[in-house]
Amino acid sequence: FGFQKIGEHEKTEKVAEVFDRVATRYDLMNDLMSGGLHRLWKAFAVSQAGVRKGFRVLDVAGGTGDLTRSFSKQVGAEGEVWLTDINETMLQQGRDRLLNKGIVVPVMVCDAEDLPFPDDYFDRVIVSFGLRNMTHKEKALSEMNRVLKSGGKLLVLEFSKVWKPLQNLYDMYSFSVLPWLGKHVAKSADSYRYLAESIRVHPDQATLQKMMEEAGFVCARFFNLTAGVVALHTGMKL
Ligand code: SAM
Repeated sequence: FGFQKIGEHEKTEKVAEVFDRVATRYDLMNDLMSGGLHRLWKAFAVSQAGVRKGFRVLDVAGGTGDLTRSFSKQVGAEGEVWLTDINETMLQQGRDRLLNKGIVVPVMVCDAEDLPFPDDYFDRVIVSFGLRNMTHKEKALSEMNRVLKSGGKLLVLEFSKVWKPLQNLYDMYSFSVLPWLGKHVAKSADSYRYLAESIRVHPDQATLQKMMEEAGFVCARFFNLTAGVVALHTGMKL
């Protein structure tokens, strides 16, 4: 698939195509691929966010809205949670899912690399399994920094570098089981081959921490989850 070698424009198009194709099966695939673990990873991220009543929260690349749903309960009527994503098809799924649960939040199609929000607006910004898909990660991180208030916190939940002794097993899973599931459930083996490849080329824990520091975050740190299959990075805006 070699998407490392494709150009920036092609990567953006590929990502749009992948999420258009998988949107309707996205939630089911998450459960199947992770054996339900994605729910625990997300719950951990929510617990670390420390969201309180009245907070303004931005869910970047929020897709079908799992995190928005949790935060919308925490912020109460006086707070705000924005569900945003570059992909309209994913957002439609998200908005419908939330509406079915009686949750109404502002939903906006926008690129994380050019956020349409004022400076110093949000108490929390979160991006879950989204940063990996962004073409200019540094730009996206600095945008997330810009829209955060001073003292606000960024949380990045993303696939990461797995503990070395498990690497071979993990590769076998990623490059055979994932495309198989993608083919039979999401009807798109290619999309899930893309997923495996995008995980492989994503910055490891220490590199992402450094990128966050370079984007202006302080107290940047990370938690490994499930032996580093996933990591939660956090950082504060001064
Ligand atoms: N946050 C959700 C979750 O954890 O289930 C959805 C994650 S989904 C794997 C990745 C999402 O990133 C997709 O919905 C995709 O459209 C979105 N995305 C990719 N590039 C983006 C960008 N530049 N700006 C905003 N969203 C983007």
